[in-house]
Amino acid sequence: MVKKSRFITHILLPLLLLVFPPGLYFILRLDVHAVDFMVRDRSDYLHNVLTNVDYSFSSYEQLLFTAITIVESLPSDRQVHEGALNKILTSSRSSLVYGIGIWYEPYAFDSETQRFGPYIRQVEPMSDDMEITYTWNTAEYDYHNRSWYRLAMEAEGDDVAVTPPFFDQDYTYITFGKPFYKDGRKAGVITVDIILPLLQAYFESFDFSFFSGVYLTTSDDSIVLSKTMVGKDELYEYSLNGEHPGLFSERTSKYREEEITDFFISLKQKPEIVSFETRNGVFRIHGFLDRRSLFLLMVRRHLFNYVFYLFFWTFLVTVLIIIGRYQSRMFENRLLNTENERLKDEVRRRVHAEERLEFLAFHDDVSGLNNIQSLVISERVPVKDSDPRSLIYISLINMRELSLFLAESLIDEVVKVFAQRLEQTCPEDVHLYRGRGFSFYVVSRSDGRDNGESLAEELLLVFRRPMKMGSRDIRLRVRIGLVRFSDADSFDQLLSMSHSTVTDESSKDIDRISLYSQTLQESKTRSLLLDTAMSQPGFTDELVMVYQPIVECHKLRAVGSEALVRWNSRALNSLISPAEFIPLAEENGVIITLGWHVIEEVLKTLSGPLSERDFYITVNVSPLQFLEIDFPDKLDMLLEQYQVNKSRIKLEITESSAASVIESFWQIADELIARGYLLAIDDFGTGESSFHRLYHMSFDSLKIDRSFVSGVLSGSRNQEICRSLLEIGKTMGSRVIAEGVETEEELLALRETGIEYVQGYHLSRPVSLDDLLKHPLLD
Ligand code: C2E
Ligand code: MG
Ligand code: MG
Repeated sequence: MVKKSRFITHILLPLLLLVFPPGLYFILRLDVHAVDFMVRDRSDYLHNVLTNVDYSFSSYEQLLFTAITIVESLPSDRQVHEGALNKILTSSRSSLVYGIGIWYEPYAFDSETQRFGPYIRQVEPMSDDMEITYTWNTAEYDYHNRSWYRLAMEAEGDDVAVTPPFFDQDYTYITFGKPFYKDGRKAGVITVDIILPLLQAYFESFDFSFFSGVYLTTSDDSIVLSKTMVGKDELYEYSLNGEHPGLFSERTSKYREEEITDFFISLKQKPEIVSFETRNGVFRIHGFLDRRSLFLLMVRRHLFNYVFYLFFWTFLVTVLIIIGRYQSRMFENRLLNTENERLKDEVRRRVHAEERLEFLAFHDDVSGLNNIQSLVISERVPVKDSDPRSLIYISLINMRELSLFLAESLIDEVVKVFAQRLEQTCPEDVHLYRGRGFSFYVVSRSDGRDNGESLAEELLLVFRRPMKMGSRDIRLRVRIGLVRFSDADSFDQLLSMSHSTVTDESSKDIDRISLYSQTLQESKTRSLLLDTAMSQPGFTDELVMVYQPIVECHKLRAVGSEALVRWNSRALNSLISPAEFIPLAEENGVIITLGWHVIEEVLKTLSGPLSERDFYITVNVSPLQFLEIDFPDKLDMLLEQYQVNKSRIKLEITESSAASVIESFWQIADELIARGYLLAIDDFGTGESSFHRLYHMSFDSLKIDRSFVSGVLSGSRNQEICRSLLEIGKTMGSRVIAEGVETEEELLALRETGIEYVQGYHLSRPVSLDDLLKHPLLD
């Protein structure tokens, strides 16, 4: 943009001006202006005429008398005396007249008609192209039709004929005529033309008789070219002061006749000039139609006008400098504006970014709720013993499992929906915050009797209601903890107390509200210890396998056994029950490694010490491991590696796990069954999976949960439940195993129901492999 405008002003324009000299163009323009000026000047002049003219008859008479005297004294050879004209001019007192011409017009006598005819002068062509003649007559010219001529012819003696004025485009003429005599006979007419400025428009409105009082006086510089129609031909007449035999005028023009003639000749065409004059130093061409010729004329006239060039270039350079400065300022302004806009944008962006940062500092991006920083800042430090507030901590515990099959954006959607539900549930004076991970905090004000328990119950209901996502129902499992502000010394302590309420790690507190207690705090500390120890390398080396026989009810013979894992922790220096560390391993992901370790141990046993026996081992498979995409393939590979038949290892899955609500859980189960694996439903009766699914899949066995078995007596309600569960198992074509049989009574009661297989302390505790191999039930 900038470069382009510089190119125009700094290069293109100067070049153009050099090639087409601007002076010439401007001269042309100035001359055109000069025409305008003339017109203006003439109208002023006309105004003067009309207002200041002395119309007295005596002045007119005086002029007329002088003219006639001169005309009378003219020699018959038609020689014009300049002196005679001057006499007329000087005797007049007005400056109205452009020119005055005295025409000496002899005529011939036609002896045949006895009439006088016009004098015909020979036409003298000047060149082939152009016919310019010095004559004012042609053969066709009809003098008799001219009023002044008739008047003059009719005049007798010293009478002088005066015509009314006639007008052409430029001038007004008044003609006086007087016959002259030769040898006593009328020999012609002497006429005097008085050429006035163009007054036609004004004169037309005048009574001519009134006009006789005009003072006709001096003419100033004038060159007149007149165009006359002579018959069908155009005749050009031009007069240079006094040099034309018929026209008298004072010469003030710089141009000589020859110059103009040459000029016309050089044009090689008929000039279209109507008038051509210089007045008061202003050059004027009127009616010149050929623009190129006019231009050339101008060029010739002004080519060496150095003063003009000096003026012009000074003017042009000044203009260019001003334009240049203006443009560079404009350019700078533009740059400044652009920079300004950029800065404004930048500031706007930063302000926006700062606002966003500030928002993010105290809000959660996903739910839009205030975040934990906001909690610490907004809620005052707890006041020991007298603080009426309570903190409800909500931890979403199955998000990890959901994230296995839901995209991150959908997980965010789930959080958002539940956050909205919580907001709708919380009264106005209750403050809701999003915590780290998948958790929320609610601060409520207790009223003495209720420390927030009823609100916590309401919030729990929020999570019981499943959320629809496409065709599936999403159910969130939560742990809710409640702490009173007054129990804490500081905010940090308050938060850690709230967390400890929900980190029991057992499934007992799922979907329940836990109140803060000292024991919980301790168990949390232990969980932390276990979690750390479990994450150390060599963890699997500390795992020990035990086996609990699965026994035929009537024959009391072991047909298989369940593999159960123990953790002999060096760091804690104790044997840890899976009931304690399995949920933790599921939480921190160690369960996958652990699971494969157990499977491999079992396969080693089956392919080693137990290879010759008709005996199977069941393995507990965590849903998290089960949901691994390549679980069936990996399993295939391991079985292949240890050369173990699929019928000898059974996979226990629990249908009460959160994962079992997931479609793919059942798909994998299906896939495994299709590949020939045997699946057992563990803790049967406690889960929520639909029987519809179970009916349509061929499970090898169902293990009735210990809660139905313990204390089962003949005729008891539990016996009825066991009987029903057995019925279901039979319908599904699965074998039914009752686990946790602790007494002989229970065994008897189970036998009565028809249950075929049992497992429990009464028959055998979980034992080491060595003990299993020599177990009496295996004989
Ligand atoms: P489960 O699969 O239902 O295992 C049965 C549990 O009941 C075992 O507890 C067993 O020792 C116990 N039990 C058996 N008979 C009786 C009885 O007569 N009375 C009582 N009170 N208990 C009895 P354990 O070994 O503590 O395992 C607890 C749970 O840990 C298991 O429940 C299982 O869900 C899980 N688990 C154990 N080993 C593994 C494993 O290798 N992998 C996975 N994923 N989970 C395991
Ligand atoms: Mg089991
Ligand atoms: Mg079980």
